[in-house]
Amino acid sequence: MAAPKIQELKELTRIERIGAHSHIRGLGLDDSLEARAVSQGMVGQIEARKAAGVILSMIKEGRIAGRAILMAGHPGTGKTAIAMGMAKALGEDTPFTMMAASEIFSLEMSKTEALTQSLRRSIGVRIKEEAELIEGEVVEIEIERSVTSGAKAGKLILKTTEMETVYDLGAKMIEQLQREKVVSGDVITIDRASSKISKLGRSFARASDYDAMGSQTRFVQCPEGELEKRKEVVHTVTLHEMDVINSRAQGFLALFAGDTGEIKDEVREQIDQKVAEWREEGKAEIIPGVLFIDEVHMLDIECFSFLNRALESDTAPIVIMATNRGIAQIRGTKFRSPHGVPLDLIDRSLIIMTRPYTAEEIMNILKIRCEEEDVEMTEDALDLLTTIGSETSLRYAIQLITTASLVAQKRKASEVDVQDIRRVYSLFIDIKRSTQFLKEYQEEYMF
Ligand code: ATP
Repeated sequence: MAAPKIQELKELTRIERIGAHSHIRGLGLDDSLEARAVSQGMVGQIEARKAAGVILSMIKEGRIAGRAILMAGHPGTGKTAIAMGMAKALGEDTPFTMMAASEIFSLEMSKTEALTQSLRRSIGVRIKEEAELIEGEVVEIEIERSVTSGAKAGKLILKTTEMETVYDLGAKMIEQLQREKVVSGDVITIDRASSKISKLGRSFARASDYDAMGSQTRFVQCPEGELEKRKEVVHTVTLHEMDVINSRAQGFLALFAGDTGEIKDEVREQIDQKVAEWREEGKAEIIPGVLFIDEVHMLDIECFSFLNRALESDTAPIVIMATNRGIAQIRGTKFRSPHGVPLDLIDRSLIIMTRPYTAEEIMNILKIRCEEEDVEMTEDALDLLTTIGSETSLRYAIQLITTASLVAQKRKASEVDVQDIRRVYSLFIDIKRSTQFLKEYQEEYMF
């Protein structure tokens, strides 16, 4: 009975991998920021992708603080897909937070607290630390165990380029030597601060050989003649992670559980001050990331004015908002405005428009999705699905891929054919038919 269980686990990871935007690997631009027609999973939407590319290079040069970007366009025209493409292109070190505006309405924390947390999740702090490592070849290790107490002690003779040094070994270092299976002739490093021992290999290379290996490693000659290696350790955390870790005794756990609660202003002030000090000392660098707010028209006027103010801070991330509304009411007011966003916020935003797709573009996106989902489809079926996509919505057509492939599997076919598409088209109705249906049977519903 063990085998089927393993199979189940495999399926789960597979489902994870094929999320709605898993086919997007970047913005699909060339070196001069021109959009390639089909590249990195992206299709069409040439102007919007080009505009996103320009914004990306501004982000990389750090020239876009305090600005917002508004992506406006019909449902399913790739606003989220383009934001994902930007995130992929920015690389792992740049924080990218995605949220739907409606997420901030929760009973657990105030709206502004939720927004502040999202903003601070989107700002990275790159911290540089130097570890001082002594490197040398082990000449001899001598370990003794006390007959009475059983405690271990020992000596280690390490040969660096110019001299041999004898180190007294405590229990912790002995344990590490044994764990790493260090023997005479091995090359090891010892971290001066933590006494951590790492084994590098056996043959004793010259300092210049190591230089060529590790780009962040430099060698300095110490006064005593020991060869010391300084290694720069760089790691990136977000301001939010620093807030959480410092706001309670078990901060780390709260971070993993996602249960962070409200964070006090004093904690944030302390963190900001500490980061400012580090920046002055050259120990830390701020990396403004991206906060993507989907369905931004769901925010209300308080949130909008809070956002407007937050954007003025010199450590503000780049805020990308997306909406599929035209002229709409600004929540919390009786006024209407373009996209339901107040004019002062629109005024400081760069606006990117996404346009409806042509049939050819829809077909290309569907093809990419079929590949992503490992679904084989006949040309006729793809043609029919493209027509459905043009007449209903791209999202609906994408959803039919998986269901049609299940239907095909049922009849033991390896390819999805026209009959499978027809079948799922009649099983799952799209918005147009759903509305039609509601109109026909209006009296029977209770609204
Ligand atoms: P909404 O306004 O409803 O939130 P949206 O504009 O954010 O819609 P997406 O969710 O980005 O639309 O697009 C719908 C689906 O189509 C997603 O699976 C997305 O990855 C895919 N898609 C959209 N545009 C493109 C494109 N240009 N290239 C590749 N895939 C795309």
